[in-house]
Amino acid sequence: MTVRNITVLGSTGSIGVSTLDVIRRHPDRYRAFALCAHSQIDKLFEQCVEFKPNFAVLRDAALAAQLAKRCRTAGLQTEVRYGVEALVEVSALPEADSVMAAIVGAAGLEPTLAAARAGKRVMLANKEVLVMAGELFMHAVREHGARLLPVDSEHNAIFQSLPADFSRGMAACGVQKILLTASGGPFRNVALSDLEQVTPEQACAHPNWVMGRKISVDSATMMNKGLEVIEASWLFDAPPEMIQVVVHPQSVIHSAVQYVDGSVLAQLGNPDMRTPIAYAMAWPERIAAGVEPLDLFKIARLDFQAPDFERFRCLQLAYDVLRAGGTAPAILNAANEVAVAEFLEGRLSFLGIARLNDQVLQSLPAGPEGSLADVLAADAEARRLATRLIRERTFA
Ligand code: NAD
Ligand code: MG
Repeated sequence: MTVRNITVLGSTGSIGVSTLDVIRRHPDRYRAFALCAHSQIDKLFEQCVEFKPNFAVLRDAALAAQLAKRCRTAGLQTEVRYGVEALVEVSALPEADSVMAAIVGAAGLEPTLAAARAGKRVMLANKEVLVMAGELFMHAVREHGARLLPVDSEHNAIFQSLPADFSRGMAACGVQKILLTASGGPFRNVALSDLEQVTPEQACAHPNWVMGRKISVDSATMMNKGLEVIEASWLFDAPPEMIQVVVHPQSVIHSAVQYVDGSVLAQLGNPDMRTPIAYAMAWPERIAAGVEPLDLFKIARLDFQAPDFERFRCLQLAYDVLRAGGTAPAILNAANEVAVAEFLEGRLSFLGIARLNDQVLQSLPAGPEGSLADVLAADAEARRLATRLIRERTFA
């Protein structure tokens, strides 16, 4: 068996670490070719010592110089690079056939697009890529023969529950609805009046999943589910009406597909991202992922609820921008990244996140998605406005 080289974008994050754990379990099949991270130099150095990648990429020059020195002293051959251009170049190198896209937020767009344009197997965790530039990205995948495999647990479950030739169209495959499950986050049953006081620590304490801080806050506002509705729409070419969010607090059913004959096919499992990661890495085969087998007797029951669009305004905003199209999703995504960062810094209240997102959307007209430059311009403008609104406290 040939060993496949994998580039991991965001290797020091939650998905990155889980990816390296699956690679570690299968040295006969996979090798970490390049490891890319923002600034956690100690963690990246440890990963370099263990996985001996050809490349390590950091955000800035000073940290990269430090890492390069440590790698040399440790006798490693790893070439250390820095910056967005390096990320883009490394993502397209021919030696790696797969790229795990696990950077958080808009920062992952350019390298992930580069991987698609280089025709890689793109394992996509970084959902913001599809939210910002779904049309461009899906076009690049088709044009350059990339193989797109969803890592987001819901989308991976939908992918597993669809026929292999689903690209001929949802209706042609007899699909009636995509049932996108959501845990409802930590505040599903908290009184609305108490939500204003929520702290970052409370918002990041997800009941079922351990994740990075941005996606944890997005789960608490259900913005995450909204971004996932948009992600599903692009991945499976499904209109918004076909995507039904189902609140399922146990996070055992990771999502399901409802067919015209009354069948519902679902994928179940323990909430451990190594399952969808391993599936994306090995597809169409399956490999061990180190995940506990599901014990249905221990789980005993599964519950379901309709989503509450009043409580979770961000979910409604996501459906709105999906219907509006063009740069509207990129504007919402950018406003939300600013809002979440400000909330985590204690400068914006929890309910302020949805209010700010709404205000930015109302103030900025969306244009056509167009080119990457158009998307990045819409993203930058939304960030500027969101930052100004927070500083001036001019949003309701
Ligand atoms: P995280 O915060 O734990 O990790 C983010 C990673 O991205 C880190 O390695 C960080 O160094 C890197 N990074 C951030 N900014 C960067 C930049 N400008 N340049 C280079 N690298 C940068 O996040 P996470 O929870 O692992 O999530 C990663 C992505 O996967 C997100 O888009 C998230 O929505 C998605 N996702 C995560 C989970 C999960 O269980 N954690 C599940 C589904 C989808
Ligand atoms: Mg998900």
